[in-house]
Amino acid sequence: MECSVCGKSDWKTISQVGDIEIWACQSCGRKESVALARLAPAGVPVFKPVKAVGKWTKKPSISDIKQMKLIFPDVSASDATLLRHFFLGISIDLGVIPDFKIEAARKQAVEAGIHIDFLPLD
Ligand SMILES: [Zn+2]
Repeated sequence: MECSVCGKSDWKTISQVGDIEIWACQSCGRKESVALARLAPAGVPVFKPVKAVGKWTKKPSISDIKQMKLIFPDVSASDATLLRHFFLGISIDLGVIPDFKIEAARKQAVEAGIHIDFLPLD
């Protein structure tokens, strides 16, 4: 970043409040507040795993069942078993997915006629 007064880019951090750092131009003394991009500390996972449990909201077609297995690769039950889950009205264990995939998975699942609940893994 260049100083808007003197055009140099010789900054020194003089204080930090939360995600904002105050920088001072070493050439002319101008102060700027700079928003820091938060980086995850090393060794800390950036997502949480969650358990997905689904229920058919309509009688699934073969392509709905295929779609379910595409969205949730952990699903190992046979197509017949998954269809039976519809008739029995019972939940299907869809496996574990990272939390940042929840929204995309929910959207795709709705299109395939699956209602999903996400449970923390704790
Ligand atoms: Zn300056």
